[in-house]
Amino acid sequence: VRGYEGRRVGVLGMGRSGLATARALAAGQATPVCWDDGEAGRAAAEAEGFAVEDLAREGPWRKGMGLLVVSPGVPHLYPAPHPAVAQAQAAGAQLDNDVGLFFRGMAMTDAEARVVAVTGSNGKSTTTALIAHILRGAGRPVQMGGNIGRGVLDLDPLADGETVVLELSSYQLELARALAPDVAVFLNLSPDHLDRHGGEGGYFAAKRRLFELGAPSACVIGVDDRHGRFLAAQSREADPEGARLIEIASGARLRGPGWSVFMNRAFLTERRRGEQAAALDLRACPGLIGAHNHQNACAAYGAARVLGLGPKAIEAGLRSFPGLPHRLQLLGERNGVRFVNDSKATNADAAEKALLSFERVRWIAGGVPKEGGIAPLAPLFGRVAKAYLIGQAAQDFAAALGATPHELCGDLATAVARAATEAEPGDVVLLSPACASFDQFRDFEARGEAFAALAQAVVAEPDGGQ
Ligand code: ADP
Repeated sequence: VRGYEGRRVGVLGMGRSGLATARALAAGQATPVCWDDGEAGRAAAEAEGFAVEDLAREGPWRKGMGLLVVSPGVPHLYPAPHPAVAQAQAAGAQLDNDVGLFFRGMAMTDAEARVVAVTGSNGKSTTTALIAHILRGAGRPVQMGGNIGRGVLDLDPLADGETVVLELSSYQLELARALAPDVAVFLNLSPDHLDRHGGEGGYFAAKRRLFELGAPSACVIGVDDRHGRFLAAQSREADPEGARLIEIASGARLRGPGWSVFMNRAFLTERRRGEQAAALDLRACPGLIGAHNHQNACAAYGAARVLGLGPKAIEAGLRSFPGLPHRLQLLGERNGVRFVNDSKATNADAAEKALLSFERVRWIAGGVPKEGGIAPLAPLFGRVAKAYLIGQAAQDFAAALGATPHELCGDLATAVARAATEAEPGDVVLLSPACASFDQFRDFEARGEAFAALAQAVVAEPDGGQ
């Protein structure tokens, strides 16, 4: 990071991103002044030789400091300003984050690199990984980071001709003082994570900053929800020719004269100037199961098109995309029964996406229950051939399932064994727990890995005996 030579810069929150920020500032001849409310964070900063001062007190600010870089994990404004943020504001200092520093740095490099920024409520990681995968497959040099993979300040120095694909959360967008992506992708907005932004308006405003402050040369905007339609309308106003806007939809056919990518049955369809430009069959893409992934595919297709790739090259990438682990990840198939790991589904909303993606499901669910349980999923129980229930939520889920066949299995190994024994050709054995994992596993990754090991053992069993 350049531009702060010889100056003290506050860094709040000493997790991975805070430490990377401190290192980048030090490399640019600035003096990071670090703080973390937790002992472990302060120790980590000290271990690397950085100054640690309590930024929630006035002292450090009296010595002069014009900038506070806030880590994404710190709830800096809602429900109340963090005391260090309040001190910074009282001292007239600016707030920024690693993403802002990254884009400032970009403005100062000579490298001819392009940045794609992906945001939205759901599907960010999948879409970011998919765009990077498509570009790599087409032989383009790519770095991927932000909320997925490496932090923005942990990326390698940018090289000519490189594309950087970034996943950016609303928290990151909200704070960044500089945003300058070449391509901005907005997927969708659902009313989650609202409390930290002071309600829906603030949350949407954070996403909008990517387009307004960022002024990207191309926008890929999901118009399945009203927020996206608003962004698209705004973009059209700024650019009546529509040369820099691609609208995408998974739930509607787009018929306008502009440039669009949408789903027509199983076909991802591109239209430009009123004519169909390409149609790709997404049934041939095992890493992109389900309507929600079709939205992600449309967005990635749009981004790759504006970066100059042809439909054939993009199709190859969509087909070979392995999917992200623990998100509707197809593990294997035996005797016509598919095993799918969706351990990331820690709430009913995510499990709904999974149930919607298959016709006949052997559903493994349960763990630490979330408020509301699975009752809202009742309209989808017709797809459940049988549920295999585990963990603390098992009794409640059994009650919610009512007449839908189910069995209390206790643990995951029992559930997989029972489901595999009872499954018929065409069934999907699906782990989509609608629960947190902490009663039986360290985290959702550990749960998904345990499931993958059990499922792979079943898939690898020699035939016979049945
Ligand atoms: P994010 O990075 O935004 O959290 P991920 O790509 O990690 O999103 O997907 C997380 C979960 O969100 C998936 O398991 C799936 O249940 C759901 N999901 C993915 N893509 C979408 C989408 N486009 N719309 C709605 N839900 C989605």
